[in-house]
Amino acid sequence: MNTINTQWFTQWMRLCAASLLREEERLTELDRQIGDGDHGTNITRGFTQVENALADSEWNSLCEGLTLVAKTLMTHVGGASGPLYGTGFLRGGRALAQNSDCPDSEAITVLYEAIAEGISQRGNASAGDKTMLDAWLPAAQIARELASQGKNVNEVLQAAAHAAQRGAALTEGMKALKGRASYLGERSIGHVDPGAVSSAIIIMQAARAAADD
Ligand code: ADP
Ligand code: MG
Repeated sequence: MNTINTQWFTQWMRLCAASLLREEERLTELDRQIGDGDHGTNITRGFTQVENALADSEWNSLCEGLTLVAKTLMTHVGGASGPLYGTGFLRGGRALAQNSDCPDSEAITVLYEAIAEGISQRGNASAGDKTMLDAWLPAAQIARELASQGKNVNEVLQAAAHAAQRGAALTEGMKALKGRASYLGERSIGHVDPGAVSSAIIIMQAARAAADD
């Protein structure tokens, strides 16, 4: 049986809601340092609604699930991160639908690359701008590398999770070039980007959801 299926997706989103809630205060504190201190609240509200939406609505494929998540995040997350995550998940769903016959480890690459591209286009951001992309891009990149070496889906998900965590940590040394934190210029250096941290948390839960299987 495939791992990257609707059960995995439901578990992924459930783990996201729980772990983001646990990390709410840390995310808010990070956003207080270089933003307006609402990222923890925004993202927690969004993923609580995601869990409810997935439980209450009819959806039958990863594409439909991802689209539902995207719309829920766009509606319920205040702030820049809602439309950014929303666009990412929407693109991810579309990309998976177009590649429905590829093996699981490649499906992860397709998903993470599409999410990263959606965020990049929506936010007009690139690698090193000190945003959530600095977690998604290294995750997508290592996923592609390992999938092409024939690694299995759990190995790909775990490696992507580590790469995202490392990418989020590396934002500490970056100067913010996009979003609210960019108003601080050089003073944004020395702080970790809250959106990169929430993204790393989300990417880590994808690996946990597959490992729980
Ligand atoms: P707001 O900045 O509107 O208060 P949040 O606090 O919820 O929204 O989210 C802030 C996060 O959004 C940042 O830490 C950053 O990772 C991400 N972000 C902001 N602007 C952009 C952008 N243009 N492109 C990509 N990510 C961005
Ligand atoms: Mg904020």
